[in-house]
Amino acid sequence: MQPPRPTKPIFVGNQRTGIVQVGGGLDGTQPAPVSVQTMTAGYTHDVDKCVAEIHKLHAAGADIVRVAVPEKKDTDALKEILAQTSVPIVADVHFHFRRALEAVEAGVHKIRLNPGNINDREQVVEVIKACRDAKLPIRVGVNEGSIIERRDKQKRARELGAMFSEHKHGYLLAIMIAKLEEYLDIFYEQDFYDIAISAKSMDATIVIDAYTEISKRFDHPLHLGVTHAGPKETGCIRSVVALGTLLANGIGDTIRISYANDPIYEVQDGLELLYTLGLRERVGAELIACPTCGRIQVDLFTLVQQVRAKLASDIQVPMKVAVMGCVVNGPGEAEGADVAVFAGDRRGIIYVQGEKVANVPEEEILDRLLKECEAFQAAVRAGTARLGEKKVEIVPPDPLGELGSGWEKMAAQRIRSADLTIGQS
Ligand code: SF4
Repeated sequence: MQPPRPTKPIFVGNQRTGIVQVGGGLDGTQPAPVSVQTMTAGYTHDVDKCVAEIHKLHAAGADIVRVAVPEKKDTDALKEILAQTSVPIVADVHFHFRRALEAVEAGVHKIRLNPGNINDREQVVEVIKACRDAKLPIRVGVNEGSIIERRDKQKRARELGAMFSEHKHGYLLAIMIAKLEEYLDIFYEQDFYDIAISAKSMDATIVIDAYTEISKRFDHPLHLGVTHAGPKETGCIRSVVALGTLLANGIGDTIRISYANDPIYEVQDGLELLYTLGLRERVGAELIACPTCGRIQVDLFTLVQQVRAKLASDIQVPMKVAVMGCVVNGPGEAEGADVAVFAGDRRGIIYVQGEKVANVPEEEILDRLLKECEAFQAAVRAGTARLGEKKVEIVPPDPLGELGSGWEKMAAQRIRSADLTIGQS
């Protein structure tokens, strides 16, 4: 892991919403934790639905929420939306610079402009002036798909082919960077530096290359994202590969994962990515679970999903919870878990910080495990337990003993095949 690249920070929000610092490390600032953004999926002009969606995304952990404002009726709705929400809101502006001016007037906390479709110099200057007066930052968001120049590929490839020749998509990187430089010159001429940059593509390899090159040329905070990443199942891999690679290299100050799905998954997966890289302090429990194998003797997949859902709703302290399928590798793999269950022959043994507290039949595992998690959470809050503290070593139970595989017991002639419970419901 590389340390975060120093940038000139921007500040999004106000006293009422809380101010989210994005980037940092230059101008006497410290780098802020990487923030998570998402975008509402519904119509902005449908105020009640838009407000409900923003509340839901904020509650899930979004630090900043973006809304589309394609029409005047959308910017007209912003005032009411801002009055009813308490998270910084960004207006996403394409094609019509007046939407940006209206959004600033409504009191939005940041503007996103796309150089691919708002490129009239006078219009851009008008937006910059409005944002400066309102003390608002602007994200300059280049999208590979909306760069007009890329349509004349052959000509551009000839002109820019020598640049980034070591890259697979060299000319495209050159176009994106040239576009940014040209666009940002308008901002610098106006003495405006309250800027974040993004350069998205649907191709994770272009995203990695583009942000890597941009990070060498500009000291503005970077908003990372893979655009049009697709459905969650595959979009997750694309986004995590690209954003994870960049973040591990210290590149990226705020992220948006985008899926063709409910944006709540974007927030959840964005946070999980940052927790995994140690870039954010975890809120709530971390679940460790085994992938299962031929040793399994309980319905672990169902149990894991049930535990996951209950932990998400009931546990707020960042405890580690392990759900392991057997006693063979379970104890070693669950090392460091605060609360753990090792399943076996239709039973589960539950441990709290290494201490065995219960041995229950399969149908009671979920309730008892959650009871222990809640009790542990209460103890942490009361100061009588500490996270990550192992009281005693877990001694793996005898595989031929209370949780052992029936087959192994039978092979060792401990039981008769007639006594086996495996396969019985
Ligand atoms: S914990 Fe046991 S059941 Fe789960 S994968 Fe490891 S060996 Fe298999």
